[in-house]
Amino acid sequence: MKTERDYQRTRLYRAEWELIDNYELLTLVECWDFLAEIIESPWFQTDFPSTAGYLAGSAAQAGLSGPQEHRPNNRLVYLHKGDRRRGLKIRPGYRRRYAESWCSTITLPLWSRNKLTLIHELAHICCWCDAKNGHRMSAHGKEFARIYLTIVMHVLGDDEYAELHEAMLQHKVRVHPGVVQRATKSPRQP
Ligand SMILES: [Zn+2]
Repeated sequence: MKTERDYQRTRLYRAEWELIDNYELLTLVECWDFLAEIIESPWFQTDFPSTAGYLAGSAAQAGLSGPQEHRPNNRLVYLHKGDRRRGLKIRPGYRRRYAESWCSTITLPLWSRNKLTLIHELAHICCWCDAKNGHRMSAHGKEFARIYLTIVMHVLGDDEYAELHEAMLQHKVRVHPGVVQRATKSPRQP
């Protein structure tokens, strides 16, 4: 089975651009704390158990709060917690144009350090780790959109959920209507 084409990325970005000015910029540590709180919340651990375990890494017991800086040669490469080979990392994204998730690393250029974009990037990791065949799904497809909206609803609330959903509909973004399908096997590393 091949990876499904990323058929609605532009439409999804356009929906987000409608709203992005409503979200204030955060520092990199605030971005970490925001994601750590989501990952450690009981609803997230129930809905996205593989993602929660994957991102907690070796910090699973101690908790993700209080990130550490990996700073060789006095330049911040990423924030992490505990064993650097495992768990969430946040990179500053110097000179990057787009925010990006790759495995457990989220790269955040300055403009993208806001709650909406953080949930977008987290939703990619949820899709890979917890959705059935998530690593082959269209990167910004129907299932991604559903997971993204689910997290927005839980974390930002009903109004923000409704606003994002409305913007998605306006820009003809397709959203999977059903429940998130669970992965039956342990996830392949994305
Ligand atoms: Zn994306």
